[in-house]
Amino acid sequence: MDRALPVVPALEHVAPLGSSEEGSVPLPKPSHVWPWLTAALDLLFPPFCPVCQAPLGAGRRDPLCGTCWQGLERLAPPWCRRCGVALSIEGLCGECRTRRRPFSYARAAVRYGPIAREALHAFKFGGRRALAAPLAELLAELGLGALPGAAPDLLVPVPLHARRERARGYNQSALLATRLGQVWGVPVALDALGRATATAPQTDLDAAARRQNVRGAFVARRPELIVGRHVLLVDDILTTGATAGECARCLTRAGAAAVGVLTVARVD
Ligand SMILES: [Zn+2]
Ligand SMILES: [Zn+2]
Repeated sequence: MDRALPVVPALEHVAPLGSSEEGSVPLPKPSHVWPWLTAALDLLFPPFCPVCQAPLGAGRRDPLCGTCWQGLERLAPPWCRRCGVALSIEGLCGECRTRRRPFSYARAAVRYGPIAREALHAFKFGGRRALAAPLAELLAELGLGALPGAAPDLLVPVPLHARRERARGYNQSALLATRLGQVWGVPVALDALGRATATAPQTDLDAAARRQNVRGAFVARRPELIVGRHVLLVDDILTTGATAGECARCLTRAGAAAVGVLTVARVD
Protein backbone atom coordinates (compact mmCIF):
# COMPACT_ATOMS: atom_id res chain seq x y z
CA MET A 1 0.00 0.00 0.00
CA ASP A 2 2.96 2.25 -0.54
CA ARG A 3 2.56 2.57 -4.28
CA ALA A 4 2.73 6.04 -5.70
CA LEU A 5 -0.60 7.02 -7.15
CA PRO A 6 -0.22 6.89 -10.94
CA VAL A 7 -1.84 9.50 -13.10
CA VAL A 8 -5.46 8.51 -13.11
CA PRO A 9 -8.14 10.18 -15.18
CA ALA A 10 -11.03 12.22 -13.83
CA LEU A 11 -10.35 11.80 -10.12
CA GLU A 12 -12.36 14.28 -8.12
CA HIS A 13 -9.11 15.33 -6.48
CA VAL A 14 -9.17 18.57 -4.60
CA ALA A 15 -6.10 20.09 -3.02
CA PRO A 16 -5.90 19.54 0.73
CA LEU A 17 -6.97 22.49 2.83
CA GLY A 18 -4.09 22.00 5.24
CA SER A 19 -1.72 19.46 6.69
CA SER A 20 -3.39 16.08 6.55
CA GLU A 21 -0.73 14.34 8.61
CA GLU A 22 -3.02 13.81 11.54
CA GLY A 23 -6.11 13.70 9.39
CA SER A 24 -7.88 15.84 11.92
CA VAL A 25 -7.80 19.24 10.28
CA PRO A 26 -11.18 20.79 10.99
CA LEU A 27 -13.20 22.11 8.09
CA PRO A 28 -13.16 25.89 7.98
CA LYS A 29 -16.24 27.22 9.69
CA PRO A 30 -18.25 29.64 7.59
CA SER A 31 -18.58 31.94 10.59
CA HIS A 32 -14.80 32.46 10.45
CA VAL A 33 -14.54 32.64 6.69
CA TRP A 34 -17.46 34.83 5.70
CA PRO A 35 -19.07 36.34 8.79
CA TRP A 36 -21.14 38.73 6.69
CA LEU A 37 -22.50 35.88 4.61
CA THR A 38 -23.49 33.89 7.68
CA ALA A 39 -25.17 36.98 9.14
CA ALA A 40 -27.06 37.64 5.91
CA LEU A 41 -28.20 34.03 5.64
CA ASP A 42 -29.24 34.04 9.29
CA LEU A 43 -31.51 36.98 8.51
CA LEU A 44 -33.00 35.30 5.45
CA PHE A 45 -33.31 31.85 7.01
CA PRO A 46 -33.37 32.06 10.80
CA PRO A 47 -31.15 29.13 11.70
CA PHE A 48 -32.77 26.41 13.74
CA CYS A 49 -31.12 23.11 14.42
CA PRO A 50 -32.72 20.39 12.25
CA VAL A 51 -32.35 17.93 15.14
CA CYS A 52 -33.68 19.79 18.21
CA GLN A 53 -35.22 22.90 16.53
CA ALA A 54 -33.34 25.18 18.95
CA PRO A 55 -31.74 28.37 17.62
CA LEU A 56 -28.10 27.82 16.77
CA GLY A 57 -25.90 29.24 19.50
CA ALA A 58 -22.44 28.87 20.91
CA GLY A 59 -20.40 26.04 19.47
CA ARG A 60 -22.74 25.69 16.47
CA ARG A 61 -21.70 23.56 13.54
CA ASP A 62 -24.16 24.87 11.00
CA PRO A 63 -26.77 23.68 10.57
CA LEU A 64 -26.32 21.73 13.84
CA CYS A 65 -26.53 23.59 17.15
CA GLY A 66 -23.65 23.40 19.61
CA THR A 67 -25.59 21.18 22.02
CA CYS A 68 -26.35 18.55 19.38
CA TRP A 69 -22.79 18.72 18.05
CA GLN A 70 -21.41 18.10 21.54
CA GLY A 71 -24.08 15.49 22.26
CA LEU A 72 -23.10 13.16 19.39
CA GLU A 73 -21.53 10.10 21.03
CA ARG A 74 -18.05 9.83 19.52
CA LEU A 75 -16.63 6.35 19.15
CA ALA A 76 -13.05 5.69 20.18
CA PRO A 77 -10.83 2.66 20.82
CA PRO A 78 -10.86 0.06 22.17
CA TRP A 79 -12.87 -1.43 19.33
CA CYS A 80 -12.85 -4.56 17.20
CA ARG A 81 -9.93 -4.04 14.85
CA ARG A 82 -11.96 -5.58 12.02
CA CYS A 83 -15.51 -4.24 12.28
CA GLY A 84 -15.03 -1.34 14.70
CA VAL A 85 -17.65 -2.40 17.26
CA ALA A 86 -16.90 -1.12 20.77
CA LEU A 87 -15.00 -3.64 22.92
CA SER A 88 -13.63 -3.48 26.44
CA ILE A 89 -10.17 -4.41 25.18
CA GLU A 90 -8.66 -4.13 21.70
CA GLY A 91 -8.97 -7.32 19.65
CA LEU A 92 -11.52 -9.10 17.49
CA CYS A 93 -15.20 -9.30 18.39
CA GLY A 94 -16.93 -12.68 18.56
CA GLU A 95 -18.54 -12.27 15.16
CA CYS A 96 -15.31 -11.28 13.40
CA ARG A 97 -13.55 -14.28 14.97
CA THR A 98 -16.09 -16.66 13.47
CA ARG A 99 -17.26 -14.94 10.29
CA ARG A 100 -15.29 -13.75 7.31
CA ARG A 101 -15.91 -10.09 6.60
CA PRO A 102 -15.98 -8.82 3.02
CA PHE A 103 -14.10 -5.65 4.07
CA SER A 104 -10.65 -5.25 5.63
CA TYR A 105 -11.97 -3.00 8.38
CA ALA A 106 -14.87 -0.76 9.28
CA ARG A 107 -14.83 2.38 11.42
CA ALA A 108 -17.50 4.87 12.41
CA ALA A 109 -17.34 8.30 13.98
CA VAL A 110 -20.35 8.16 16.29
CA ARG A 111 -22.82 5.75 17.83
CA TYR A 112 -26.26 5.71 16.16
CA GLY A 113 -27.95 7.42 19.11
CA PRO A 114 -30.95 9.79 19.03
CA ILE A 115 -29.03 12.83 17.76
CA ALA A 116 -27.23 10.89 15.03
CA ARG A 117 -30.50 9.28 13.99
CA GLU A 118 -32.29 12.62 13.65
CA ALA A 119 -29.34 14.26 11.89
CA LEU A 120 -28.92 11.43 9.37
CA HIS A 121 -32.65 11.29 8.74
CA ALA A 122 -32.77 15.03 8.01
CA PHE A 123 -29.65 14.67 5.83
CA LYS A 124 -31.06 11.80 3.75
CA PHE A 125 -34.77 12.33 3.69
CA GLY A 126 -35.33 15.92 4.78
CA GLY A 127 -33.32 17.59 2.04
CA ARG A 128 -30.91 19.08 4.59
CA ARG A 129 -27.80 18.69 2.48
CA ALA A 130 -25.98 21.35 4.54
CA LEU A 131 -25.61 18.67 7.20
CA ALA A 132 -22.83 17.26 5.01
CA ALA A 133 -20.53 19.85 6.63
CA PRO A 134 -20.77 18.81 10.30
CA LEU A 135 -21.19 15.12 9.44
CA ALA A 136 -18.04 15.15 7.30
CA GLU A 137 -16.31 17.01 10.10
CA LEU A 138 -17.10 14.06 12.36
CA LEU A 139 -15.30 11.78 9.91
CA ALA A 140 -12.35 14.17 9.68
CA GLU A 141 -12.27 14.44 13.46
CA LEU A 142 -12.04 10.66 13.76
CA GLY A 143 -8.83 11.02 11.76
CA LEU A 144 -6.69 8.87 9.50
CA GLY A 145 -5.09 7.49 12.65
CA ALA A 146 -8.29 5.56 13.38
CA LEU A 147 -7.80 3.51 10.20
CA PRO A 148 -5.42 0.57 10.34
CA GLY A 149 -2.39 0.68 8.06
CA ALA A 150 -1.44 3.39 5.62
CA ALA A 151 -3.77 6.15 4.48
CA PRO A 152 -6.25 5.08 1.81
CA ASP A 153 -5.42 5.77 -1.85
CA LEU A 154 -8.97 6.54 -2.84
CA LEU A 155 -12.32 7.44 -1.27
CA VAL A 156 -15.37 5.89 -2.92
CA PRO A 157 -18.92 6.77 -1.84
CA VAL A 158 -21.60 4.11 -1.75
CA PRO A 159 -23.69 4.97 -4.83
CA LEU A 160 -27.39 5.62 -4.96
CA HIS A 161 -29.40 4.35 -7.88
CA ALA A 162 -29.63 7.16 -10.45
CA ARG A 163 -33.38 7.42 -10.05
CA ARG A 164 -33.15 7.79 -6.28
CA GLU A 165 -30.32 10.30 -6.58
CA ARG A 166 -32.38 12.39 -9.00
CA ALA A 167 -35.34 12.33 -6.63
CA ARG A 168 -33.20 13.32 -3.63
CA GLY A 169 -31.09 15.80 -5.57
CA TYR A 170 -27.84 14.44 -4.19
CA ASN A 171 -26.09 11.34 -2.96
CA GLN A 172 -25.41 11.93 0.73
CA SER A 173 -22.38 9.60 0.71
CA ALA A 174 -20.84 11.47 -2.22
CA LEU A 175 -21.19 14.78 -0.33
CA LEU A 176 -19.44 13.24 2.69
CA ALA A 177 -16.65 11.67 0.62
CA THR A 178 -16.01 14.89 -1.31
CA ARG A 179 -15.61 16.96 1.85
CA LEU A 180 -13.50 14.35 3.58
CA GLY A 181 -11.25 14.06 0.54
CA GLN A 182 -10.63 17.81 0.70
CA VAL A 183 -9.63 17.68 4.36
CA TRP A 184 -7.52 14.54 4.13
CA GLY A 185 -6.04 15.32 0.73
CA VAL A 186 -7.14 11.92 -0.58
CA PRO A 187 -8.59 11.55 -4.11
CA VAL A 188 -12.30 10.84 -4.39
CA ALA A 189 -13.80 8.76 -7.21
CA LEU A 190 -17.51 9.49 -7.26
CA ASP A 191 -18.13 7.18 -10.20
CA ALA A 192 -15.97 4.20 -9.19
CA LEU A 193 -19.03 2.23 -8.15
CA GLY A 194 -22.46 2.28 -9.74
CA ARG A 195 -25.79 0.71 -9.00
CA ALA A 196 -26.63 -2.06 -11.42
CA THR A 197 -30.14 -2.39 -10.05
CA ALA A 198 -32.48 -0.29 -7.95
CA THR A 199 -32.99 -2.11 -4.67
CA ALA A 200 -35.82 -1.85 -2.21
CA PRO A 201 -35.03 0.25 0.88
CA GLN A 202 -33.17 -1.80 3.48
CA THR A 203 -34.99 -0.26 6.43
CA ASP A 204 -37.56 -2.95 7.13
CA LEU A 205 -35.40 -5.97 6.29
CA ASP A 206 -33.46 -8.26 8.61
CA ALA A 207 -29.76 -8.97 8.07
CA ALA A 208 -30.19 -11.97 5.75
CA ALA A 209 -32.84 -10.21 3.68
CA ARG A 210 -30.62 -7.13 3.43
CA ARG A 211 -27.73 -9.21 2.05
CA GLN A 212 -30.08 -10.83 -0.45
CA ASN A 213 -31.58 -7.45 -1.39
CA VAL A 214 -28.23 -5.90 -2.36
CA ARG A 215 -26.60 -8.98 -3.90
CA GLY A 216 -25.22 -8.02 -7.30
CA ALA A 217 -26.59 -4.49 -6.92
CA PHE A 218 -23.24 -2.76 -7.52
CA VAL A 219 -20.89 -2.60 -10.44
CA ALA A 220 -17.30 -1.35 -10.60
CA ARG A 221 -17.39 1.30 -13.27
CA ARG A 222 -13.77 2.43 -13.01
CA PRO A 223 -11.63 -0.67 -12.36
CA GLU A 224 -8.55 1.23 -13.56
CA LEU A 225 -8.87 3.45 -10.47
CA ILE A 226 -9.34 0.50 -8.14
CA VAL A 227 -6.79 -2.14 -9.14
CA GLY A 228 -4.12 -2.54 -6.47
CA ARG A 229 -5.46 0.32 -4.38
CA HIS A 230 -6.45 0.67 -0.75
CA VAL A 231 -9.99 1.91 -1.22
CA LEU A 232 -12.03 3.48 1.56
CA LEU A 233 -15.78 3.22 1.10
CA VAL A 234 -17.67 6.16 2.59
CA ASP A 235 -21.29 5.91 3.71
CA ASP A 236 -23.61 7.55 6.21
CA ILE A 237 -24.45 4.55 8.36
CA LEU A 238 -23.35 1.00 9.06
CA THR A 239 -26.28 -1.15 10.16
CA THR A 240 -25.84 -4.83 9.35
CA GLY A 241 -22.99 -4.10 6.94
CA ALA A 242 -24.89 -5.69 4.04
CA THR A 243 -24.58 -2.72 1.69
CA ALA A 244 -20.97 -1.92 2.59
CA GLY A 245 -20.13 -5.62 2.36
CA GLU A 246 -21.60 -5.96 -1.11
CA CYS A 247 -19.72 -2.83 -2.26
CA ALA A 248 -16.52 -4.23 -0.75
CA ARG A 249 -17.00 -7.54 -2.61
CA CYS A 250 -17.51 -5.63 -5.82
CA LEU A 251 -14.35 -3.54 -5.30
CA THR A 252 -12.33 -6.60 -4.30
CA ARG A 253 -13.44 -8.45 -7.44
CA ALA A 254 -12.39 -5.37 -9.43
CA GLY A 255 -8.89 -5.74 -8.00
CA ALA A 256 -8.73 -3.52 -4.89
CA ALA A 257 -5.82 -4.45 -2.61
CA ALA A 258 -7.81 -3.56 0.50
CA VAL A 259 -11.27 -2.15 1.13
CA GLY A 260 -12.09 -0.26 4.32
CA VAL A 261 -15.43 1.17 5.33
CA LEU A 262 -15.93 4.53 7.00
CA THR A 263 -19.36 5.68 8.14
CA VAL A 264 -20.65 8.61 10.16
CA ALA A 265 -22.59 6.33 12.49
CA ARG A 266 -22.84 2.68 13.33
CA VAL A 267 -25.62 0.70 14.94
CA ASP A 268 -24.20 -1.40 17.74
ZN1 LIG B 1 -29.69 20.85 18.13
ZN1 LIG C 1 -15.78 -7.26 14.83
